[in-house]
Amino acid sequence: MSETVYHRIHEITRRILAGGEMSTEEGRWMIRLPTRYLSSLMAGADRIRRHFRGDAVEVCAIANVRSGNCSENCSFCAQSGHYKTRAPVYDYIPEEQLVDQARRARQWGASDFGVVSKGWGVRSDKERRQLQRYFQAMARNSDIGRCASLGVLDRETARELKAMGLENYHHNLETAESYFHAVCTTHTYQENIDTIRHAREAGLRVCAGGILGMGESLDQRIELAETLRRLEVESVPLNFLSPQPGTPFGDREPMQPLEILLNIAVFRYMLPRAEIRIAGGRQFLRDLQAMIFMAGASGVMIGDYLTTKGRAVEDDLQMLRDLGVSVRGDTQQRRAASPVAAPGPVSA
Ligand code: SF4
Repeated sequence: MSETVYHRIHEITRRILAGGEMSTEEGRWMIRLPTRYLSSLMAGADRIRRHFRGDAVEVCAIANVRSGNCSENCSFCAQSGHYKTRAPVYDYIPEEQLVDQARRARQWGASDFGVVSKGWGVRSDKERRQLQRYFQAMARNSDIGRCASLGVLDRETARELKAMGLENYHHNLETAESYFHAVCTTHTYQENIDTIRHAREAGLRVCAGGILGMGESLDQRIELAETLRRLEVESVPLNFLSPQPGTPFGDREPMQPLEILLNIAVFRYMLPRAEIRIAGGRQFLRDLQAMIFMAGASGVMIGDYLTTKGRAVEDDLQMLRDLGVSVRGDTQQRRAASPVAAPGPVSA
């Protein structure tokens, strides 16, 4: 039996390295493999990562610019106004604070910095003006990549954000379409997919992934990976549920370290060319955090997350040094390949 399993992993690896892909059925098989096959899977995932993404990895960071009392009811999120949680509630932070954080992230080696705001999307001119001030201030003070995560976007707003100087748009699908009803009912899966399309059509680089460990089945994890593949998402953040007290998923058991590594490897097999970034929930890997890259990840989010503390940045940077992993901070090179609009003047 084990010989057959090793042979099949090897066959799939070879096919992907030759430019082919893993089928959905193979993904469903792979994600069920016992963890005794993990080393073999990781060896394959590592080869695939190096082949398509190179040896260096990407680092990014975020700032939560407006927090809490959100109109949406995402079952994992402490910021939802539908649940009683301890998430901080505040309105837009000052530009100087954002710039300080972005500069610090650049010093850490981050190529991109995300402006993250709670909520359904960009609803008012006041919000637009504030975002424009943020992107202008970032552009004036740092060469770090400008990302945002602002919720659902229509076509027009995506274009406006691009004209303001935004470069990347982050919008998670969160989970498989067949499980989304358990995660959120205040917006639809189709709105998530449309947001990704609108952002891409506007010329923004798209970053979209999800959260594993929310009670979805193994097949539904593959369904999520399949949808991301179909949408040709280039940057895929993977999060692992960090149960937040007071939310409907607050009592879920966090995923185990080996299961997390196996899932990262399977996503690498499903999405061989994507930038797979490990974000929230990385702490559940405990002492195995350094193995994310060997499992196929090609990026990592450092610093704090939205409502939870990340690991000390110095520990993460030391981890990268110990692994001998270089960080790709080539924002300028990427811009040269696809020029972005200079941020326009702030409208009154
Ligand atoms: S995930 Fe975003 S949209 Fe959903 S409740 Fe949290 S802040 Fe609101």
